[in-house]
Order: sequence, then structure tokens, then C-alpha cells
Amino acid sequence: MDMIIGIDLGTTNSEVAVIRDGRPVVLEEDGDPILPSVVGLDPQGRLLVGKAARNQSMLAPERTVRSIKRKMGEEVTVTLGDKMFTPQEISAIILRTLKQRAETALGHPVKKAVITVPAFFTEGQREATRAAGELAGLEVVRIINEPTAAVLTYDPHPAEMERLLVYDLGGGTFDVSIAQVEQGVVEILASHGDTHLGGDDFDQRLLDFVCDRFQTKHGIDLRESAVARSRLLRAVEDAKKALSFEAVTTIAEEFIAEKNGVPLNMNLEVNRYEYEELIEPLLAKTLLCLDKAMSDAKLQADEIHKVLLVGGATRTPMVHQLLSERLGRPVHAEIEPDLAVAMGAAVQGGLIAGVDVGPVLVDITPHTLGIEALGELDGYMSRHCFSAIIERNTPLPASRTEIYTTAVDGQEGALIRVFQGEDEDTRYNTLVGEFTIEGLADLPAGNQILVRLDLDLSGILKVTASERATGLARHVTIDNATERFRQRQRTDAIDRLEEVFGTAENPIEIGNGESSSTPADALDDQSAERLSPTLRQAIESATTLILKAEKIVAGANPEDAADLLAMLVDLRTAIDNRSEKAIRTISDEVTDLVFYLEDQ
Ligand code: AMP
Repeated sequence: MDMIIGIDLGTTNSEVAVIRDGRPVVLEEDGDPILPSVVGLDPQGRLLVGKAARNQSMLAPERTVRSIKRKMGEEVTVTLGDKMFTPQEISAIILRTLKQRAETALGHPVKKAVITVPAFFTEGQREATRAAGELAGLEVVRIINEPTAAVLTYDPHPAEMERLLVYDLGGGTFDVSIAQVEQGVVEILASHGDTHLGGDDFDQRLLDFVCDRFQTKHGIDLRESAVARSRLLRAVEDAKKALSFEAVTTIAEEFIAEKNGVPLNMNLEVNRYEYEELIEPLLAKTLLCLDKAMSDAKLQADEIHKVLLVGGATRTPMVHQLLSERLGRPVHAEIEPDLAVAMGAAVQGGLIAGVDVGPVLVDITPHTLGIEALGELDGYMSRHCFSAIIERNTPLPASRTEIYTTAVDGQEGALIRVFQGEDEDTRYNTLVGEFTIEGLADLPAGNQILVRLDLDLSGILKVTASERATGLARHVTIDNATERFRQRQRTDAIDRLEEVFGTAENPIEIGNGESSSTPADALDDQSAERLSPTLRQAIESATTLILKAEKIVAGANPEDAADLLAMLVDLRTAIDNRSEKAIRTISDEVTDLVFYLEDQ
């Protein structure tokens, strides 16, 4: 059987993937899986594809074609040097480069491909994509929607019907789709988007911000120089990417301009808050599209089972935060967001070729890690606020930094208490370590402390606190933080299990499976009236789930039963605390395990 490669032919970037040992892998060239979707000619008239073409695009726009995907299906031509090309021909050059990449990696010719297109592409645009594939020497065995590909990457064979929301924010386009998967068939229920919104706009906002600052200081507008603009665009994109993991970054470019014969440097610090203020209006637009897609699909947030993030720009922490707030559940970004679509295309290719394809394996952190800080809890100031730094489901290794500030003038030290868990109140999470940073400078309240967490593949957590003003730093290393946490949960759960069912030697008789009391007993009419409708609904669903799970515990093997019981304890605690977010998150976990155990 011929191998079928999967291609994500993107507006900004493209990738090619294949199935290897039953799993999708994206193929790299020189260690880079991404091929910028840019075609150009060098000064000697030789063809450039990818990074080399992108690098020259600002300086030689007449010899470069970018974002050709926007023109697919149109009866137009683009000029490259002194020649005219159709959009299909330019796309064919990109596809041929990906085909060659696959042939080099695999060591044999490749003839067939699955290519992805946006869900909103018309028949004409799909036909143009197919034609481009054929011009590149590929038989296009199927054109599939990008959100469909993302869904296939996450789970090609869900056991039950699932509704997924796919939020795809790339370099130049945004779309949000709602997909329903049932018995291996993915149906797109609704899709909305903005074909001119993406990470490039974030770069533009940051570029304007740094240029405005420079102009105020030196009276020179750097946007007017093509060379300075081109250098800065690259610098701000790097800064933007850094701000996804760091709380502050520096944009430093030497000799960016000249005044009265004196060279001027750019050296500007930008912090995440400043950056988030710049992009917030753009993200608000994406939420409007999300609302439209939800209303087209006639669905409420709680009818969506999973939220998948696709597209490089979804690495922005604010995207995670806004979406999980809006949809009331954690988002899934375990699979590299800019590679997920190509992987899904390869999965589809594998399914067509009759290859057995399993889920992508990624090491993730199963729980959120963060520190205790002063903040608002249920409308009151509290010193037990859990401030998340590394969110659950983040692929490992992971490093993140956040900024905190001292609360009082002349504060000499700060206690850094590191917790793991999902509750906004640290008292319901697990303390994994603590230390104090002492000898802080004598400064008014608001002295900035950077807290950095580095979690490696073996669960070793390094926590560093540093004072920004002086560079004073302290750190602590916590071995196997995640593992210890899991083990502690497990031992506690086994103890609780023995309390309920007795030990193997000394079993306790099991009743008829009806639970005597549930946390929802607390949901008497009087208190229920004070709950918000969504919280009330979450508690009711969780209660039904607990009843179902308790019946399953009795028949499960001891290890699974211990896991389930540990989760039920957490779920009851979340219900007692009226923490809607935690109820939903833990309910999802319980549902997954219940489904799995029911299948056994
Ligand atoms: P895609 O079209 O999916 O390849 O996405 C490309 C966009 O993702 C570009 O605007 C990149 O600058 C952006 N991007 C890539 N990595 C990151 C990151 N770590 N944080 C924020 N944006 C990123």
C-alpha cells in the first residue's frame, strides 16, 4: 500500500507529516518542522522557498510572494520577477518542496497526499488546492477541513459522541469551528472566522508600540525605513514568542537608526501586561466569532466536551485564559498547536491507507503548578489565592515566569509557597515546597519579584524567585513533585477505599449500590436559589456523575478504584467549595475514567 502523506498548506506556514510506528510525526528539515509559505526569487533569479524567501520578503517584496492561500480559487495572477503565476502554481511550488522533504526523510518516492483547507473554503478554493497538488506531482486522495484534522490528531476513535470546539489562530487567519465526532465521522456543525486576523497582527501592534516609544525618545519614526522595519519585525516576533513563557523580555537592536551622525540603539523592556493590553482588542474579536459559531450550532458552552487549540498564536497565555473563562473548562494544547493540523492530515491518510493509527503521545503535567499570592477570592481579599504559573496539560519540559509584587513598603522578604492543584484557593491544593527570598531592597510596595518554574520530563521542579530591581535570586529544587503528589493521592485513596470496602482479608459487605448521601444534599431549595444557574447545573451534573461513579468503583480493580475514589473526594470538595471551575474540571476527569472503566 502506498504511503499517503498529510499536508497542512497554511497561509503563513506549511508542514508535512506521515504515520510512523502507528503515530503521526511531522517531518523536519534542518531541525525545523515548519516551512514558511513564502516563495521568492533571489537577486540571481533562483527560486527560494520557505525561510530564505521569507527573510528577503521585506527588502525585496517585488521578488517575493506571501499568503498565496488568500488568493486560491481566484482568477488572478501574481508577479514574481518578470513572470506571472497563478495561485495554484505558487502553491504547487510549496507543495513540491514538502513532497521532496518527505521523500528525503522516507528515502522513497511519495505519490499521494491528504491536504487540509479551512472549513469555510468554497468548492472553487478546494478545487484550486487539488489542482495545486496535482501540479506538484501528487495525487490528492482527499481534501479535508483543518478543524477535522485537528480533531483526528487528538482522538481518531472516540468511544462516545463528542462535540469539540477548535480555535485556530495562525499567523494571518483565525477561525473557530464546532465539530461533532461520532463513529469515526467528523462533522463540522459551524465555523466562523476572520481571514485577516492572526499572530502577524500581534507583531504589528508590538511593532507600533516600540516604534512609538522610540519616536518619543529620539524623534525618529523607524517605520519609515524598510531595513529598520524588517529587523524590528523579526525582533518583535521573537519578543512576542518569549512573552508566552516569560513575564518580561527585552527588544535589543544595535544601530537601528542614526541621528546627527551618532548611531542609535533600540533597547526596550516589554512586560506581558503591556503586551496583553495591545492584543486584547484583537482577541475580543475572536470571542465574537466564537459566540457566532456557538449560536449557529445552537449549542451552549456546557454542551462542548473539549476545546482544542490550533495555530502557533494560541501559545499566547491570554488565549488560554480567555477561552477557559468563556467556556468554563480547560483548553487542550498538548499537541504542538502549529503541527496538529498536519498530523491530523497524516492520520486521515493513514486511515484511508488502512494503517492502524493510535493517539499522539505527549508528556504533560497532569496538574497546575503555581504559588500562593494575595488576591481576590469569592469577592474578598485573601492571602490564599492560587496563582497558576504552569497550567495542567502543558507539554514537558515546561518553563514559565510570572511577575509578583510586594504588598507593603520596605518589605524585606517574601515567602514563596508552591502548590499543585486546580482550586483557586491554595488551601484545597497540595503544597509541594516553600522557601523565602530575604534581603529585598528597601523599596515601596510594588517591588517586582519574578517567579520562574522549570519542570523537566522526570517531574523535577526548579523554582526561582528573583528581585527585578537588584537581581537578587533564590531557588529551590523539588524532586518528583508530580509523582509525589500522585503517590500521596493514591495512598490516601487506598486508605479511604479500605474504609469503605474493608481490606482483602477483612471485606465489608457492599449494599445495593445506592449512595446514602451526596454533596448535592447540600443543594436544598433555599441554598440553591443563591447559586448561579451555571453553578447549580454543574453541581447537579456532578452529583449524578458521583452516583454513577460510586457504582463503578465497586466493580473496578483496586488501582482504578483508588484513582476514581481520589477524584470523587476532590469533586466533593469542589462542590463544597462551590468552585464551578474545579467542579467542571474534575467532572471531566471523572467522566473520562468512568467511560474507560465502563468499557473494561
Ligand atoms: P501558524 O500559522 O499556525 O504556523 O502560526 C504562526 C503564528 O504563530 C505566527 O504569528 C507566530 O509568530 C505565532 N507563534 C509561534 N510561536 C508562538 C509563541 N510561542 N507565542 C506566540 N505566538 C507564536
